[in-house]
Amino acid sequence: MKQFSVRTQERCQFLDINPYVQRAVEESGVTNGVCHVFVPHTTAGLTINENADPDVVRDLKLILDRTVPWEGGYAHSEGNSAAHAKASMMGFSQTVFIKDGRLAFGTWQRLYFCEFDGPRTRTVWVQIIAAN
Ligand code: ZN
Repeated sequence: MKQFSVRTQERCQFLDINPYVQRAVEESGVTNGVCHVFVPHTTAGLTINENADPDVVRDLKLILDRTVPWEGGYAHSEGNSAAHAKASMMGFSQTVFIKDGRLAFGTWQRLYFCEFDGPRTRTVWVQIIAAN
């Protein structure tokens, strides 16, 4: 398993982590297979969405904020229940196919690390499995 760290700058931030994951694929030498990406945190997640128009990510964050306001009379004493909820909504893992040594995405897709309680230093795990 490989891992890398990312440093987030804002409480809620979507970070394009494709360069890190692509590097892990190249280091593995696997040209065809699957790449599992996992975030071992409870207030950050992963999602795949559009990277062509930055307003898509901006709107995603806005929609999440409207759906799960930071202040909501939640019970969790740490005060970051909204971050926990948003992380669960995004999920903690993604699987991307590897084709000809590259992460195989649709034309407009990229993989985003989703910070919901930053700024923090975060860890991402990557497991690459070869296919015949
Ligand atoms: Zn908490």
